Amino acid sequence: MSMLSDSSDVTFRDKLPEAVDVVIIGAGVIGISTAWFLMKAGVSVLVCEKGRVAGEQSSRNWGWVRQQGRDEAELPIVTKSINLWEGLAKETGEDLGFTRQGLIFLAEDEKGLVDFEQWVEIAKQHQLDTRLLSAAALGKELGYAEHRWKGAMITPSDGRAEPFIAVPAIARAAQREGVQIIENCAVRTIDTRAGEVSGVVTELGAVRANAVVCAGGAWSSTFLANLGLSFPQLLVKGTVARTTPTPEAYSGGAGSHKFSFRRRQDGGYTLSLGNYMDHYVSADSVRYFSDFLPALKMTWSGMRLRFNDGLIDRLFPKRFWQADESTPFEKTRVLNPSPNPYAVKKIQEKMGRNLPVLKNAEIVEVWAGMIDASPDFVPVMDELPTVKNFYLASGFSGHGFGIGPGAGYVMAALVQGNEIEFDLNRFRFSRFSDGSPIVPGPAL
Ligand SMILES: Cc1cc2nc3c(=O)[nH]c(=O)nc-3n(C[C@H](O)[C@H](O)[C@H](O)COP(=O)(O)OP(=O)(O)OC[C@H]3O[C@@H](n4cnc5c(N)ncnc54)[C@H](O)[C@@H]3O)c2cc1C
Repeated sequence: MSMLSDSSDVTFRDKLPEAVDVVIIGAGVIGISTAWFLMKAGVSVLVCEKGRVAGEQSSRNWGWVRQQGRDEAELPIVTKSINLWEGLAKETGEDLGFTRQGLIFLAEDEKGLVDFEQWVEIAKQHQLDTRLLSAAALGKELGYAEHRWKGAMITPSDGRAEPFIAVPAIARAAQREGVQIIENCAVRTIDTRAGEVSGVVTELGAVRANAVVCAGGAWSSTFLANLGLSFPQLLVKGTVARTTPTPEAYSGGAGSHKFSFRRRQDGGYTLSLGNYMDHYVSADSVRYFSDFLPALKMTWSGMRLRFNDGLIDRLFPKRFWQADESTPFEKTRVLNPSPNPYAVKKIQEKMGRNLPVLKNAEIVEVWAGMIDASPDFVPVMDELPTVKNFYLASGFSGHGFGIGPGAGYVMAALVQGNEIEFDLNRFRFSRFSDGSPIVPGPAL
């Protein structure tokens, strides 16, 4: 299976309804999971997707479903999310590729080990099964004796799922249960009445709704800017590769900031260079520079600034439009950035050294995905301040796939006004404008 692009077949083509209870903007893991839990509660839902279901981040990621190393505020939600992944795999009757095989963080140096020790304490407070591994124990876990790393941290209850297939599969199941899903259907803006949301205007026409959830991934900031709402969000590109089937060395995923691998359902491995990222400088890089300063300090070593490939367009993007005008969402149906050739070369060079079973494996596909990062690496899951019943779920900062079903569960509860068992204070939209200090969680 290959990455989705503008030329991929349209497979979700419901008819635009006149009215629904809730419209969801974006069919990534967040939008589709939100739709699923709303549908379960008997709420009528329309999901509008400008390109293809899971065409962007939700199919391009590494497939880690992880609790390990997370921001503490996210932990209870992601633990719930892993249980939901398990439930979805049964309830949808679809193959999501979900399985709990554990995830490992590898320490390249002594400092890495110290960081892990600190995180194990947090894990204990949340009753997780995280533990440290000595270099020798790690070698056994990965099936080879060479002590390439100083040691590691493992969470056996973490899992993996298949990004190429999982979200489209949940979407198909949701559609069978009555969720309406339309691809090639950009939402241009929302409609409001007396300070409340009253619907959306899509490129195919208007739809009335009592609530709208923006789950637009990398596009949420642009969508909100047109409505006068500032959502600091920057994009970074990650390059990924997959191999031919190989003998199994480790059945979960493992990685350091220099290299990562994850066993795939098809018997290959998904590989990447850890936190090696490209940032294409844009107007938002300047606009949100001060918001991102603390985050930048943490990620600088892995970040490459790029000034090529359409700098002028990025410096002067279209930020305002009317509902009857074509929008940036229609211009780029599926954000399909080209993989970084240097990263691909390095992955190729390193794979055999990091996992000996990969010595003779071939890379059969490479791709890239644009990650949407927030200044503190945690998402917004909140109602927006100026328009009642208009919600935002975005900024999942490189780890939204695993928490996706949990986030969908949270958003469905928020939209219905239900009480929630989680403390959502850290995820409020106002934290970027109410004078709160920006406190970054663990980076990407
Ligand atoms: C290389 C890479 C590796 C990653 N690895 C992991 C990992 O191992 N584990 C993990 O948990 N996370 C990982 N992530 C992050 C994870 O993939 C994302 O956090 C998650 O998929 C975000 O989901 P989303 O639904 O918010 O966004 P997306 O999946 O990007 O979906 C948003 C959708 O909204 C649509 N849209 C936007 N605007 C509009 C509009 N106006 N109208 C209609 N549609 C619109 C877009 O076309 C898009 O399809 C990784 C990401 C990348 C790129």
